[in-house]
Amino acid sequence: MQVLLATTNPHKLEEIRQIIASPRISWKLLRDLPSVPDEPIEDQPTFEGNAALKADYYAQHTGMTCLADDSGLEVDALGGRPGVHSARYSGVRGERSVVDPANNVKLLQELAGIPIERRTARFVCAMCLVSPDREADRIVVRGAVAGRILLPEEADDPAHPERGRGGNGFGYDPLFMLPGDHPRHAGRTTAQLADREKNMISHRGVAARRLLETLRRTGTIDA
Ligand code: IMP
Repeated sequence: MQVLLATTNPHKLEEIRQIIASPRISWKLLRDLPSVPDEPIEDQPTFEGNAALKADYYAQHTGMTCLADDSGLEVDALGGRPGVHSARYSGVRGERSVVDPANNVKLLQELAGIPIERRTARFVCAMCLVSPDREADRIVVRGAVAGRILLPEEADDPAHPERGRGGNGFGYDPLFMLPGDHPRHAGRTTAQLADREKNMISHRGVAARRLLETLRRTGTIDA
């Protein structure tokens, strides 16, 4: 089965391809296509809605089976924000190297004065696989990982609390601390994990493994 992986984020591409590695799936990337349609506007109120919107859009434009995901950060003290707006939270546009720190500055500002026990949060990822001609084969899965947002004084550099702790990952990773009772990585941020460690526990990892289970259960790929 040939599947178009409808994301341009290199972190996500690698993570998904490593987890859903099957000789029955040959991955195509957007950059492999002779012409790539403009990105659709992700205007749905849920992660599942946006993942389905992207998968349907690329399936219709390419005639290929498509896998798309949507992910983000939900912070309890902010009523679930930034949620589906995680990528564009601060309003700053441009390269990830500019956008990510701006989002992290805004997140810490919005949580100013919120004590540690109320800084609970989760990363969420929804994935949707659609085949252009077989609606019955549509699969939608969700994965999540629980944690909390760092206090500014817990950051490595007090002058730059938005840099949090750790140099791996992307986005909110330097500010996202795994719970104190986490079986493997208690008290570490997801930016302090190696790629393989993060893939084992991440929201995307959980969602991708759920998708893999469904593909095996339905006999789409070998168990
Ligand atoms: P998406 O590309 O529309 O799924 O947007 C996801 C946004 O949520 C990213 O730009 C990040 O800001 C945030 N996000 C999603 N997954 C992660 C993660 O694993 N680590 C850090 N931030 C993430």
